[in-house]
Amino acid sequence: MTAAYVALGTNLGDRLLNLAEARRQLRLLGALTEGLVFETRALRMPGDTAPQPDYLNTVDRLETGLGPLALLRQLQRIEALMGRRRTYRWGPRVIDLDLILHGAQTMRSAALTLPHPRAHQRDFVRWPLRFFGVELPGA
Ligand code: ADP
Ligand code: MG
Repeated sequence: MTAAYVALGTNLGDRLLNLAEARRQLRLLGALTEGLVFETRALRMPGDTAPQPDYLNTVDRLETGLGPLALLRQLQRIEALMGRRRTYRWGPRVIDLDLILHGAQTMRSAALTLPHPRAHQRDFVRWPLRFFGVELPGA
């Protein structure tokens, strides 16, 4: 079993319901400990001025037997199941599930980079992680 950390973000529809549904799905993959939820302004691509609703963000801890790629595939399956439609980069979404850490595993490929390459720049990822006693390298 490995402790993985999954970032959840939602800014479309009933955000609390989206978090609850994603967590219900995550519980099927292992032992879940819920992180604290923060409300944050949407990250937008430079030059993107279209208004976007605020996010609810958190990071949950998942103790799982799944390896990193198998877990990522499951996260993508949950996103699809919950009706996530890929529009544009950093566009609004019903649910975004990012794999932040998978134990001490490091890897770098197009499909999966661990630790997540931008997480250490994001307060809404670092804050919930701190409550688990986890500091990201580079932060
Ligand atoms: P973003 O969350 O940056 O808006 P997406 O969720 O649409 O983007 O997908 C990002 C892509 O990044 C996916 O195709 C996925 O394979 C890849 N990826 C690489 N590393 C990770 C990671 N640690 N967690 C989630 N996706 C990752
Ligand atoms: Mg993502």
